Amino acid sequence: MKKITIAIDGFSSCGKSTMAKDLAREIGYIYIDSGAMYRAVTLFCLDNGLFTGDDIDTERLEQEMGNIRISFRLNPETGRPDTYLNGVNVENRIRSMEVSAHVSPVAALPFVRQALVAQQQQMGREKGIVMDGRDIGTTVFPDAELKVFVTASPEIRAQRRYDELKAKGQPADYEDILANVKQRDDIDQHRAVSPLRRADDALLLDNSHLTIAEQKAWLIEQYRRTCGLS
Ligand code: C5P
Repeated sequence: MKKITIAIDGFSSCGKSTMAKDLAREIGYIYIDSGAMYRAVTLFCLDNGLFTGDDIDTERLEQEMGNIRISFRLNPETGRPDTYLNGVNVENRIRSMEVSAHVSPVAALPFVRQALVAQQQQMGREKGIVMDGRDIGTTVFPDAELKVFVTASPEIRAQRRYDELKAKGQPADYEDILANVKQRDDIDQHRAVSPLRRADDALLLDNSHLTIAEQKAWLIEQYRRTCGLS
């Protein structure tokens, strides 16, 4: 059967990754979490002293971009891909609040976006891919056959992120998370390069009041329709 490209964009912590991963597994496609790539670059900056407070040493980061290798490997225990930075599994570290608090300014840097978008396009050149992020349907794969734009209220998204961190035993404060969700929305929507916006041809899904199972069923139905299977 002909493989397609599936682009899932939306606000932070709105359950994009969960639905994208589940769909990819169900239909045997590759899944790529593009946010994990921006998070990995941010972790590299934090680990290598490229931040002074909230200021990034952009000159050094630009020189270092060639030394940042990001890859994904399937974790046999979870059945999901883990993120590797220069050969080290950083899946848990990139989800920390420290990385969340620093990622949006890093993701706003044009040279960072250019490098990561090129890698993402390379990963999708054979189709058969589900990628989630902020600019997948607008910039990375503007010709994707299926585009979805997911949203939910900031409070619901903060609660989901809080529950996720708690379940992993990581420190979490609901008010801090809510402030971070709102701040990232603002930076992501207003940056100059590839701001977060719904592509004109993306289907809109507000999942504030949907269960994971309902979302999953909705997405599979859209996939089937796009491929002419239903
Ligand atoms: O999806 P996630 O919340 O993990 O993404 C982390 C951050 O990476 C986002 O807040 C956004 O600033 C950035 N990002 C982006 N473009 C993407 C994916 C993520 O700018 N395609």
